[in-house]
This record gives sequence, structure tokens and C-alpha cells, in this order.
Amino acid sequence: MKISWRITAAIAVALIPLVAVPADHGEAAARAKIKPATPETCDPHKFRLILDVGHTSESQGATSARNDVEFGFNLQLTKLIGERLKSAGFAATRVLVTDGKARASLLKRVGTANDAHADFFLSVHHDSVPDKMLEEWEFDGAKSYFSDRFSGHSLFVSERNPHFSASLAFAKLLGRELKEKGLQYATQYTLPLMGHYRHPLLDKDVGVYRYDGLVVLSQTRSAAVLLEAGSIINRDEEMAMNSPERRELIAAAVTRAMRSYCEKR
Ligand SMILES: [Zn+2]
Repeated sequence: MKISWRITAAIAVALIPLVAVPADHGEAAARAKIKPATPETCDPHKFRLILDVGHTSESQGATSARNDVEFGFNLQLTKLIGERLKSAGFAATRVLVTDGKARASLLKRVGTANDAHADFFLSVHHDSVPDKMLEEWEFDGAKSYFSDRFSGHSLFVSERNPHFSASLAFAKLLGRELKEKGLQYATQYTLPLMGHYRHPLLDKDVGVYRYDGLVVLSQTRSAAVLLEAGSIINRDEEMAMNSPERRELIAAAVTRAMRSYCEKR
């Protein structure tokens, strides 16, 4: 459905009042400044890394230009990232697949991460565009929607996360890895036409945005980053995101970034 992206993005924003923008927001920010990120030292074998597969089988996120669902893209890429991290020694890495409706699943995934005392939470998604930018085309005999206007990955962090600085540090490392592999981040989130989806660009070199309204970033007690791995509404990029080569490239970038992040703890 072409409305999926809007609904998906709206959920994150709509949930803010329900999940209580913490009254201790200021304190959390203050703590983040004086307290180093967890853990003090990082042993890859014990590092509780949660790889969150964005969306659920019931609420599948955006729909691609060729009518595939985002959840499938997220699942395939996240599983590969998990395999590569485990091979690199991050033995405690867990791929988190959540069920249920979109809104409930956000709280469920945060609850799972917090109960597991996660050291890091990385949420994996694929991007689309607001509905007003969609254009019609026919794919496989069916009326379908696309937008080739924008492409690229993006990284999001929240200042409401108690480990904002650590989250930002990892996001920058991952952004750097992706840039060094020749990928360009999505620049449209700074544009006025993005309306509610406009976000402050914290790192214009490697594409890290601030997005405080995302539940999975603001309510997790560990450092947390959300990766939009690429656009599946862009017809060329959808093909790229479907390729084993691109998945391997991203998995390698995440693994290298996590290794650097861990070494600096
Ligand atoms: Zn998504």
C-alpha cells in the first residue's frame, strides 16, 4: 500500500505522548554528558548487541516500487548482518524479530532490549518517500508506485537516548564505512518539502540525522541507532538493495563500524 510509509513514520511521532517523553529528559541528557557509554570496556564475545528487524509480518512497513514489503528487505539484511557480526566474534549478537501490530511492536521491541540489558540496539529499515511524491507506473501488470527522486541510506540517533553520544559515535563510524564503500547518504531529510519528516543533520559528511521522535531510539536504555539501509521506492536502488552484493557490503560496513566502536570503549 502506498500509504504505508506515511503510517509507519507517523506511528513513531504519534507515540511520543503515549510513551511519555521522559520527565527526566533533562537529567538523562545531563547524565549522558557525564557518564561514559556502556560498557566501560567492550569484549565482543559478551557485547549484547540487538539487531532489530524493522516492522513485523503483520505490519510490514513501506512497499517497494515493485510491490515487495519492507519487512522482507529488513529481515534478509538483518540476518546477514547478524551472521557477519557473529563470525567477527560478536557472539552475543541477537537478531530481534517482533510480531504484532506496528504501534504495540515498538514498545515490545524496546521492552525486549531493555529486559535483556542490551549494550547496543541497531534497528534496520529500508526507506521510502512521503505519499505526495509517489508516481504511478505499471509493474507486473499491476498499478504500482515509485519515486526515483531520492536515494541513499541514512542514520538516525535521538538526543533523548541516555547514551546519545555513544549512539552518535557509532552512527558516524557506520556512515564513514558506507561512504568509503562509495555510497551516498540520503540528503532529502533537510529539505522543507519533507515537512514532518525533516530532521536536523548532525553530520553532513556521513549523513547522521537527529530524530528524537523514534520510540526505538528514545526509549531504549542502551545506545541506539536506526539505519535506513537504502530506498526501496527508488526503482534502481530497489534492485541494488535486492542484490547479495549490496547486502554483503552493508553487513561488512556494520561489522567494521562495530569493531571500531568496541575498540574505542
Ligand atoms: Zn521502516
